[in-house]
Amino acid sequence: MSILNIFDTMEYGPAPEAANAGLAWIAERQPFGLFINNTWVKPAGKQYIESVNPATGKPLARVAAATSEDVDRAVKAARTAFESWGKTPGHVRARYMYAIARHIQKHARLLAVLESLDNGKTIRETRDIDIPLVARHFYYYAGWAQLMEQEMPGFAPVGVVGQIIPWNFPLLMLAWKIAPALAMGNTVVLKPARYTSLTALKFAEIMQEVRLPPGVINILTGEASQVGEALVRHPDVNKIAFTGSTDVGRSIRRATAGSGKKLSLELGGKSPFIVFDDADLDSVVEGVVDAIWFNQGQVCCAGSRLLMQENIANRLIAKLRARMEHLRIGDSLDKAVDIGAIVSPGQLKEIQRLVEAGVEEGAEMWQPSWTCPTEGNFFPPTLFTNVSPATTIAQVEIFGPVLVAMTFRTPEEAVALANNTRYGLAASVWSDNINLALDIAPRIKAGSVWINSTNLFDASSGFGGYRESGFGREGGKEGLYEYVRPAWEVKATVDLHIAVGSGKGAASSNGSIKGVNMAAHDEEVEDGHEGDKRENGGMNAYHPALPGIDRTPKLFIGGKQARSDSGYSRDVLDRQGHVIGQVGEGNRKDIRNAVEAAHAASGWANGAAHTRAQILYYIAENLSAREDEFARRIVQQTSASRADAANEVQTAISRLFSYAAWADKYEGVVHRPPMRGAVLALPEATGVIGMACPDEYPLLGFISLVAPAIAMGDTVVVIPSMQAPLSATDCYQVLETSDVPSGVVNIVTGDRDTLSQVLAEHDDVDSMWYFGPLEGCQRVELASAGNMKRTWVSYGHRRDWLDTLQGEGQEFLRESTQVKNIWIPYGE
Ligand code: NDP
Repeated sequence: MSILNIFDTMEYGPAPEAANAGLAWIAERQPFGLFINNTWVKPAGKQYIESVNPATGKPLARVAAATSEDVDRAVKAARTAFESWGKTPGHVRARYMYAIARHIQKHARLLAVLESLDNGKTIRETRDIDIPLVARHFYYYAGWAQLMEQEMPGFAPVGVVGQIIPWNFPLLMLAWKIAPALAMGNTVVLKPARYTSLTALKFAEIMQEVRLPPGVINILTGEASQVGEALVRHPDVNKIAFTGSTDVGRSIRRATAGSGKKLSLELGGKSPFIVFDDADLDSVVEGVVDAIWFNQGQVCCAGSRLLMQENIANRLIAKLRARMEHLRIGDSLDKAVDIGAIVSPGQLKEIQRLVEAGVEEGAEMWQPSWTCPTEGNFFPPTLFTNVSPATTIAQVEIFGPVLVAMTFRTPEEAVALANNTRYGLAASVWSDNINLALDIAPRIKAGSVWINSTNLFDASSGFGGYRESGFGREGGKEGLYEYVRPAWEVKATVDLHIAVGSGKGAASSNGSIKGVNMAAHDEEVEDGHEGDKRENGGMNAYHPALPGIDRTPKLFIGGKQARSDSGYSRDVLDRQGHVIGQVGEGNRKDIRNAVEAAHAASGWANGAAHTRAQILYYIAENLSAREDEFARRIVQQTSASRADAANEVQTAISRLFSYAAWADKYEGVVHRPPMRGAVLALPEATGVIGMACPDEYPLLGFISLVAPAIAMGDTVVVIPSMQAPLSATDCYQVLETSDVPSGVVNIVTGDRDTLSQVLAEHDDVDSMWYFGPLEGCQRVELASAGNMKRTWVSYGHRRDWLDTLQGEGQEFLRESTQVKNIWIPYGE
């Protein structure tokens, strides 16, 4: 073709990236072994799987298929390595991580080529986005390794971490997981996705090059049913970090329930891309290209739902179709290609199936006039219009280059449509009116919101989901907490279900036996008797000749005292077994009413933090006015001495002060990723939190859970201490007289496990906290898998609620919030 012709047609010529270095690297090493203890070993089952180039359909490499025996070996290696790596000074870990980052840069081109060959994604993306971001992650987290001792005091590594990653960003997902884990002193067993193992294997070589101590990183290739499941169930793994589909995430939640393994899940999405009529439509079109055709749409946070203000919809669709005509699809190693290959024939079939479903459901499908290559797994960019919000293609994650477009008229409608999904990973908002954009961003239930931009990622800024998009964050400082535990918790060995009722006190942090109220010394028993006498004699009786006026507390729902639906009451006993009162026996319907009331009060989160602080101070003030009465109530229900009970009330008041203080001080940060702009990382209220209080410390346990949550704007449904509920029910009047709006705190007495089960299964509860026996924790974690709600459970371990380190602080505030990252690029 002559140059003159090219000017005429403006056709692209071929611009292939050479594959020989990558292919030679593979040829020299295959079949690949497993990477355990810094050496390459053969898989126990002697089986191998084939990796295929999705752009050609031709075999690329043979990699080992590990079995559960190999998982055992790798976990053992990681456990042994943890003994020293967990104690290695932060500066030493930082040096290793710095070396890893440097080596990634040295091998950047080889890594980019391998990634494109193995995954089918374009070389432009692997070269310019994936690999540079991988290096950036190791640099960034080398810094956190260096700073851990100063910046994370009181935290210890979790131990051996099992990490399971998907195929859509193979090396980048590895970096997101391994970098924070290493920085915090953990050791790792990682399973890449079966389709895309090659860059993880090159990464293993880099571990040898930087002489990372053996066993710190182990990489097991193979199938989910062999490696993934064995890793999830392995008893010596302390945490699982997973990215992938919501269904597998749900099965992992169930498999790990009650095991005490920490868990972070980054799952699917159906992210809205919202365009207001004042947006710059040409920029919007390029934004859409990035949102849904980047990585063939195989992106968990892909902007797959285009929501357009009605008056610009036709214009935008016309521009979009014109742009789609000019997108180029083809071999992933061609540098002038926009869209590469779909990862596997199975994934391609699934995309085709969902597209057919869209057509059958009546939506209008449009594809460009050009045709895809016939060899390899290709699917053209596809646009659906006339889509109704309830249809399959509007609700299900397609994970392919398919965009569904809908319209809205008002900002309110835009928010409602955006939130009409079970997911909550990301969103883009496009408007030239920054006031409007910043008003919309906080109203969208998603972990990342991009203003006039899309698919921006950086190590400094956390990423993760709301709702069924999972829980936990990757990136930023918040990502570090997924890989640490409070140091006191690591040491704690006391099991609540042994201690409660057995008369044994819990060992306190200083080694003495602290006054856990359920247990008592002889001298305290005497005090307890005194308390009993006082209570029986005169709590509500002025004259011994008159019968006392009955004060049976009801439930507290929507700011009102409500009779339990069951019509039953349960006795509350003192430690001698005498009945000292009754409380309502709450049931499923009461919990549903309480959740409804808590939802109706969701405006609590939008009010000023200053107001929430004032109300917490007011609760403290009203509690303090009745200090003596509350102390007597504790004595009456438990075996605490008067002195211990008074201390408990005082500590509860102080705790309310702490959270009143935190209410307007637990703020976000501004990140400065490498772009012109800023990222606002804002802790937002989680929503409705269900809480089962510990049995011990009936007042302090209750206040310690409720106060941080309401300080952060959550509304709560609380099941008080089952054995000593009267301290919580006595708070009804305190709450009523402290200006707490109706529905912010709801209290349902009754059987802890029955009620917790209902809360954990409830789809409108966003998080469930449970402080009780191990079996109860397991049930809560299992039941929560329904809508993938966050859980925070005690695994049967007792906390010393009097201790400020264990009983209050940022751990509680983190559990009460989720971080939303709002990306605001600037400049014309
Ligand atoms: P999966 O969730 O099945 O796979 C993700 C990872 O988990 C892979 O390493 C996989 O191993 C492993 N895995 C699968 N099942 C188990 C299990 N029971 N226990 C432990 N590990 C397991 O995703 P798919 O690859 O099947 O993709 C299916 C859909 O998931 C996509 O269409 C998309 O909707 C969604 N997805 C979402 C991603 C995200 O980033 N949020 C990423 C990838 C997919 P193996 O590869 O051996 O099967």
